Amino acid sequence: MPQLPDLSAFGSILQFFVACIGAYLFAVWIAMIVWTFRDARSRSRDIFTQALSVALVVVFNLPGLLLYLILRPRETLAEKYERELAGEAMLQDIEERQVCPVCHHKVSPDFLVCPNCHTKLHKKCDHCGRVLNLKWNVCPYCGETQGTPVVGRAITTPPAPPAVRLPQRQPTTLPSPETPKALPSSPAQAESQP
Ligand SMILES: [Zn+2]
Ligand SMILES: [Zn+2]
Repeated sequence: MPQLPDLSAFGSILQFFVACIGAYLFAVWIAMIVWTFRDARSRSRDIFTQALSVALVVVFNLPGLLLYLILRPRETLAEKYERELAGEAMLQDIEERQVCPVCHHKVSPDFLVCPNCHTKLHKKCDHCGRVLNLKWNVCPYCGETQGTPVVGRAITTPPAPPAVRLPQRQPTTLPSPETPKALPSSPAQAESQP
């Protein structure tokens, strides 16, 4: 006779525990769905993929989560972006790295000659002294024209005095290209007199 109330009490306690376990499992299920939704969103921008991932967990619960873990994209969007950035940076580094066109020795962009084979790689600006490309005719830093003014000065200045002096001292001798160089010095007179 005293066993009946005991059983009902046991039944209500059991019911309580079952309810607790049920609530716990429900909370876990909701947490799994939320986690799957966040994880899928961080790995794919595709709405269909996100919905399918969440549906997998909603319908199949824990096995669905395992399936999702197996099938989900390997890297997150942030990881993918970082990887692409690193790849781009490496590519740019390779493009910027210069080598000697003759011996392919590694050189810096501001080297004037190759330290290995002495090939001329760059030139200095006549005016400001900065390193320029060999093909450039004008300095981009100071605007000075390169090459031509220096050559022009060297050619025009020396012939001017010989043109005046030669006819005065030696009217008989023909003007040769060698005489202009020797004119300013005294040995030129010593050679011409005898
Ligand atoms: Zn070289
Ligand atoms: Zn310059």
